Amino acid sequence: YTAKATHSGHHVYRGTDDHHGEERLHLLEELRLALVDDQLVMHYQPKIDLKTGDVCGVEALVRWNHPTRGLLQPDDFLGLVEESGLMHAMTEIVLHQALDQAASWSAQGRTLTMAVNMSPSSLIDTVLPERISAMLSSRGLSPAMLVLEITEDFLLSDRERARSILTRLQATGIRISIDDFGTGYSSLAYLRDLPIDELKLDKSFIIPMKDDPRATALVVSTIDLAHSLGLRMVAEGVEDTTAYSELIGYGCDVAQGFLMSHPVPAAELEDWLAARALDASALGQISG
Ligand code: C2E
Ligand code: MG
Ligand code: MG
Ligand code: MG
Repeated sequence: YTAKATHSGHHVYRGTDDHHGEERLHLLEELRLALVDDQLVMHYQPKIDLKTGDVCGVEALVRWNHPTRGLLQPDDFLGLVEESGLMHAMTEIVLHQALDQAASWSAQGRTLTMAVNMSPSSLIDTVLPERISAMLSSRGLSPAMLVLEITEDFLLSDRERARSILTRLQATGIRISIDDFGTGYSSLAYLRDLPIDELKLDKSFIIPMKDDPRATALVVSTIDLAHSLGLRMVAEGVEDTTAYSELIGYGCDVAQGFLMSHPVPAAELEDWLAARALDASALGQISG
């Protein structure tokens, strides 16, 4: 595992070299406890359909509600989860929580797709398609409401294996999205022969749009690339109204970012949805 660069600056766990065995053991115990003690919580960030201005779905993003350190962000602990072999257990918890939430929203008459991030290590589980199908049907949820966000490093590992896993997942009716698109090192050839539904352009292309025409040029051509392959285009990291309206103009399908909402607990998202429904002048109503 190589630790991802973080913007928060604060790490609980950086990697093997940064901690003495004893401290690592302590963190590992804390993490094990967190998994059984419901300390992992999901925050949800809305996604806006740029054609209609409607909220079309949410992305579930995990946080660790640590008893003494406060709310920890994924960059602070996912490395430890991965390295300690607990990713499989964490993914199970995340899927259950996210799908419980989706079922609850669905019961309230809200049709929101639920996007869940999947690490390469969790995708390798050979019974994942069956497990996901069972989780969906036990909650009466349609497979079409679940999106799995996967990163290009998964596609890199072993193309044939990736193909077979993704094909089996897609056959269940769920959708596959390539997250952080544009930041990986894998060949674009996978776009031609892997079963995927959506590209999610990384925020590092969207955020600089306001002052870098070259960033904008890449965004425009990526939207065209996605559409010419029949894929949906999602932009993450939409932080300002200019980017938002430009993306509408370029034909981008979906936007997600701090402009609309940070990732928030489910109850807060419900308040946000209610306020947005009331406020006809909400940003999402801009129709280009
Ligand atoms: P990601 O899947 O690419 O998620 C998007 C990240 O960008 C989130 O950070 C989100 O808070 C942040 N973001 C959203 N909109 C904006 C914006 O407008 N501006 C900026 N600057 N940032 C924005 P977060 O929640 O810290 O998650 C970081 C990463 O951790 C995720 O990146 C994902 O790779 C991973 N992650 C999060 N939850 C899970 C999970 O349940 N399972 C797994 N395996 N990975 C997860
Ligand atoms: Mg994601
Ligand atoms: Mg992303
Ligand atoms: Mg990311």
